[in-house]
Amino acid sequence: MCVYVFPLSSGLFLKLRRNFPTCLSSWKIPPRVLKSSQSEAVFDVRNNALPFVPLQTFTDEEMMIKSAVKKFAQEEIAPLVSTMDENSKMEKSVIQGLFQQGLMGIEVDAKYGGTGFSFFSSILVIEELAKVDASVALLCDLQNTIINKLIKKHGTEEQKTTHLPKLVTEKIGSFCLSETGAGSDPFALKTRADKRGNYYLINGSKMWISNAAHAGLFLVFANVDPTRGYRGITCFLVDRDTEGLHIGKAENKLGIRASSTCPVTFENVKVPEANILGQIGHGYKYAIGSLNEGRIGIAAQMLGLAQGCFDYTIPYIKERIQFGQRIFDFQGLQHQVAHVATQLEAARLLIYNAARLVETGRPFIKEASMAKYYAAEIAGLTTSKCIEWMGGVGYTKDYPVEKYFRDLLYLLILFYWYLGISSFNLLSICLLLDFFFCPPLLSEK
Ligand SMILES: Cc1cc2nc3c(=O)[nH]c(=O)nc-3n(C[C@H](O)[C@H](O)[C@H](O)COP(=O)(O)OP(=O)(O)OC[C@H]3O[C@@H](n4cnc5c(N)ncnc54)[C@H](O)[C@@H]3O)c2cc1C
Repeated sequence: MCVYVFPLSSGLFLKLRRNFPTCLSSWKIPPRVLKSSQSEAVFDVRNNALPFVPLQTFTDEEMMIKSAVKKFAQEEIAPLVSTMDENSKMEKSVIQGLFQQGLMGIEVDAKYGGTGFSFFSSILVIEELAKVDASVALLCDLQNTIINKLIKKHGTEEQKTTHLPKLVTEKIGSFCLSETGAGSDPFALKTRADKRGNYYLINGSKMWISNAAHAGLFLVFANVDPTRGYRGITCFLVDRDTEGLHIGKAENKLGIRASSTCPVTFENVKVPEANILGQIGHGYKYAIGSLNEGRIGIAAQMLGLAQGCFDYTIPYIKERIQFGQRIFDFQGLQHQVAHVATQLEAARLLIYNAARLVETGRPFIKEASMAKYYAAEIAGLTTSKCIEWMGGVGYTKDYPVEKYFRDLLYLLILFYWYLGISSFNLLSICLLLDFFFCPPLLSEK
């Protein structure tokens, strides 16, 4: 509501109230600097040698892990990618390699056996792995940015000492939220956890659980009190060997075929009270919280996948001769290549910036949503363009480009209610913009 003040001949003033958006008349009132982002911060020169560093500047630690994982991916994973895709099976050597390289506990403290590196390091690792195989990147991403992180943040000291040392060395964790009737609307979940003395009985079925075939620990979201709706949702730590826990047959999927995606059912699964992660009824908060950072991990997977596809395609179009010259030399193609390369770079900067914001404890949700949204757009464009640029062979299984295209599609579905589809990310961005661009009321002056 705007207030206009008109002087009357009597010296009195008449106040007219009109229902204009305040911003439309902002020239009439002292302008206030609108804050479109909370991410600006004064650089603390005391703690940093360089006052303004480019985003693609890494610490020694980050450089080290990036080059180590690149070598591991090229030497140990790349030769197995096509077979793993064909057989829908992750090779044991790949899983063991991830553990041996310290890639399954990147941010876990050394006191629990982890690597003790930064969130940014996890993002670099996920990007490098996705350049070679999205299934392996997903395994590493879920373990680091969701499973380990949830236990680190909300676990009791006993839960941390019991689970983290295993999760960083040998045990895969699975995140069990989705159900047949609870996909986009996960908090409509029907899995129940009924209290019986000092333990709970879990009953229900989960769908689409990534890495379930190899997992040793399941983070299960179940409702302890359906009368409280989503406020009854609680997270339980459930061991694979617990009686009544059944892992179903893996889905026969279009992409990320090496990653097992299975139904998991719970029939009177007895779980001690001590296995509740965090507080009763806070499961929905933990799921949302972890998926906020998870957006950056998913964005890094998309970026890596797109970059891997691009890196494979460019040498091909530089060699392929048509009309007596390299197809890369045609200006029509060069413009397209430059367009994609620029957008890949832009996506990388958005992702790195969001990751640095997380690391420095600053607000990041808008930036993470932008990074995720943009990475999805550019990964879709890159993979389809790469198939197009390679012509007929790009469409065959003789080259990996079609696999990058297939693998990408799952990233658009996974937790899409929160991480995935672009419209949800656009919604988050706009909600935050709405908040930051809230104009002043006159009474605030
Ligand atoms: C490969 C893979 C791995 C997965 N891994 C896991 C895992 O580890 N753990 C886990 O818990 N879950 C996992 N999921 C589940 C995943 O998060 C769900 O599939 C996803 O949330 C979508 O739910 P749904 O499949 O039931 O689709 P539905 O909810 O049935 O949605 C179908 C379509 O409806 C539309 N739609 C629905 N609601 C809206 C809306 N509000 N606005 C606009 N459009 C809408 C969308 O366009 C969507 O494409 C995985 C899924 C896949 C495919």
